[in-house]
Amino acid sequence: MASQEHLGATLVLGLGRTGEATARYLASLLGSRVDSVTLYGGASSQEGERTRALEELGVRVVCGTEEVEGDYDLAVASPGIPVDAPFFRSAAARSREVVGEPELAFRESPERWVAITGTNGKTTTTSLAAHLLRAAGLAAQPVGNIGTPPVEALASRAEGSWFVAELSSFQLATTRLFRPRVAVLLNVTPDHLEWHHTMEAYAEAKERAFANLGAGDLAVVSVDDEWCRAVADRCEGRGLRVCRLSVAGEPDGPCAAFLREGALVVRLDGTEHALVAASDLKIFGLHNAENALAAAAVALELGAGEKDVRSGLVSFQPIEHRIEPAGEVAGVRYVNDSKATNTDSVEKALTAFEAGSVVVLLGGHDKMTDLASLADAVCARCRAAVCFGDAGERIAAALERARAASGAPLEVLRAPHLREAFDAAVRAARPGETVLLSPACSSFDEFSNMAERGRLFKDLVRALATGEE
Ligand code: ADP
Repeated sequence: MASQEHLGATLVLGLGRTGEATARYLASLLGSRVDSVTLYGGASSQEGERTRALEELGVRVVCGTEEVEGDYDLAVASPGIPVDAPFFRSAAARSREVVGEPELAFRESPERWVAITGTNGKTTTTSLAAHLLRAAGLAAQPVGNIGTPPVEALASRAEGSWFVAELSSFQLATTRLFRPRVAVLLNVTPDHLEWHHTMEAYAEAKERAFANLGAGDLAVVSVDDEWCRAVADRCEGRGLRVCRLSVAGEPDGPCAAFLREGALVVRLDGTEHALVAASDLKIFGLHNAENALAAAAVALELGAGEKDVRSGLVSFQPIEHRIEPAGEVAGVRYVNDSKATNTDSVEKALTAFEAGSVVVLLGGHDKMTDLASLADAVCARCRAAVCFGDAGERIAAALERARAASGAPLEVLRAPHLREAFDAAVRAARPGETVLLSPACSSFDEFSNMAERGRLFKDLVRALATGEE
């Protein structure tokens, strides 16, 4: 059901993938529901091939400034622009309304949305939920942070298909009418505080996924951290159906998703679905069992059959850079978890391996988050750690402090960059052990993104294997 609303004079903020996709979408409505499209690229944006291509579609492009001029009915901001940034404020002062791109896509096509958010696990859960729906013969497309902006996917959206949207706190912060049929909150742990400033603001943005849920909808919310528990309670207080998600215990209530004797169980409106053993999944670690439970709850809620959900769960393969097996050389397993860009994700990743058998590579761009809990987990579960990059020294010092306090036999090594860290890990690892790149940091000190870092790691493993032949 496409919207018929007249959008009037529109403004797009940002010239990244989202901004470009939004401008293209709005330009496709020029002369019908849209009167004009103006795109402000931001202070550091420049004219070039991309802006010229947009201009050919009828978009007015303004680069190099964040002071918006003119008057607009609707502004669509890219997720990289904080709501309190001067750029955003300047647009808000000139527009009747400012929303994010997923909100626009929702208004344009409001049927059959699933929203997946959380600090960690969004991509895995989004991709798995879409996989399970498809396994059950339902049309489903992963959209959002995972790859295709929803607005770009609108044109090819098949009748009756589900949009499974991975949404970050940035995207949720600018929603208003957004109402998914099922919304999932996996966890809330410190991250992105440079954007939201406080944990309260960060958690509040994530909670917006549930703001418009009503009777018949389902909120799937972890109860394994305090921020999420509070959200679950508030949703329940509003009379919503809440599926409490836990890998730490068996929640009460008519709807819940949990592990019982190592098996995934989803209870919906009092009916229990015993699915598969967590050990049958090809994605490892307790956090992945949690992601699988959330995805299974989504699929079952939307009508997927138990049998299809079971077969979809066991056929789902790890996604690149997320505890991705990268090969085995001389009896040592290599695993690429480059996507672990914060401390919590590393702590979770370590649960996927036998304690004492891991040589972990940690470091990169220093987000200056607290390292105490990470250091305790590394001492408890790793035999050695190689610390590299800008954050390397701070991590190594935290590990040494935790080692002194716990008496753990952890070997702490230092290396300037990933390459040298890899060599040090190869020398340190013994047959039967795992070398795990799960760096707890973003990659920007050395790479353009985490994928480039993960690919270098895999190249190094391949070179090592070839050298050995
Ligand atoms: P996101 O899209 O939220 O960044 P991903 O699915 O890409 O999440 O996983 C990113 C990293 O976070 C993984 O490499 C893993 O180490 C960790 N992770 C995945 N799922 C969870 C979870 N449910 N809880 C905590 N950490 C997780």
